[in-house]
Amino acid sequence: MNSHRIAVIPGDGIGLEVIEAGKRVLEVLAEDNTDVTFDFVDFDWSSERYLKTGQYIPDGGIEELKTFDAIYFGAVGSEKVPDHISLWDLRLKICQGFDQYANVRPARVFPGITSRLQQAEDIDWVIIRENSEGEYSGNGGRVHQGLPEEVGTEVSIFTRKGIERIHRFAFEMAQSRPRKHLTLVTKSNAQRHGMVLWDEIFFEVAKDYPDVTITRELVDAITTRMVLKPHMLDVIVATNLHADIISDLAAALSGSLGIAPTANLNPEGTFPSMFEPIHGSAFDITGKGIANPVGAFWTAVMMLEHLGETALAKRLMTAIEEVVASGLHAPDLGGSATTREITDAVCERVRAIR
Ligand code: ATP
Ligand code: MG
Repeated sequence: MNSHRIAVIPGDGIGLEVIEAGKRVLEVLAEDNTDVTFDFVDFDWSSERYLKTGQYIPDGGIEELKTFDAIYFGAVGSEKVPDHISLWDLRLKICQGFDQYANVRPARVFPGITSRLQQAEDIDWVIIRENSEGEYSGNGGRVHQGLPEEVGTEVSIFTRKGIERIHRFAFEMAQSRPRKHLTLVTKSNAQRHGMVLWDEIFFEVAKDYPDVTITRELVDAITTRMVLKPHMLDVIVATNLHADIISDLAAALSGSLGIAPTANLNPEGTFPSMFEPIHGSAFDITGKGIANPVGAFWTAVMMLEHLGETALAKRLMTAIEEVVASGLHAPDLGGSATTREITDAVCERVRAIR
């Protein structure tokens, strides 16, 4: 009997709606399976909580999360809290507290989705984002505040340890895929220190993976490559900031932000990993019941794979693909289906595929 303890943090906005849907689908997946149970524990760590108590995460919260097998996260962000507070006090506190240094973002076009891109069927990528340092190190400061000579600095920190482990992770990922191709993305022509170190260590690590073919791109050039020659890409490794940007582009090219998942992994398994749809709280559609839950479902697939539930992951992925292919789409994909209708349809398919 595999009992998986999952910490659920729906967060803000549509995070609550899509995570609720995701939990339902997971429960249906386990209902006829005597070998697997999901033990969900909900946490109300949200902007609402912050506005009431001054804290996103209560004292001892991170310690408590440590005991879980995985974290299923919705979205964080509110008009009433500056983004840099909500992001740092909740999401990044968990990512950095649990050394979830590898952020994995798959992008591909499902049958039944029309992309704005003509060659969209060629999109089958995994973007590996360095998730623990770099441009998001939080280092810097402000001087002469409010004066004409005011200065703000934001210092990126790249360490040999941090770079080497993410490159190794990316090479392993590339090696596990049929095409075995890895693209390095930096801006080392204009950023002369940390990014150069990124490049150097990439080529050092590459020596251990002779079966993986490699290319090197500048971050500006990769955006054109993604649009014009998507078939040339497979696995892409980039720094924290660059990967953040190109993965939003990847999600948009493959149809919508609403379908893309991401995993924040602590690959060694010392701490729990966190799984979340790539989209944010999207207050413009909150409460309307039209959030696309597919991103949260695909996120659940990644969580199942991480938990070693490969068969369940496959079954859920097939159910999602069948529902999307049937043309049942939320408004973000040009359809008129509600969150509930899509969730019901996926549950029905999950029950049908035994
Ligand atoms: P945050 O500030 O937390 O990033 P956001 O309001 O910027 O949140 P995003 O999630 O980044 O919103 O997405 C931008 C827009 O894309 C949303 O305002 C919404 O209209 C649309 N969108 C995002 N996710 C979904 C989804 N799951 N279903 C439907 N539309 C979505
Ligand atoms: Mg956003």
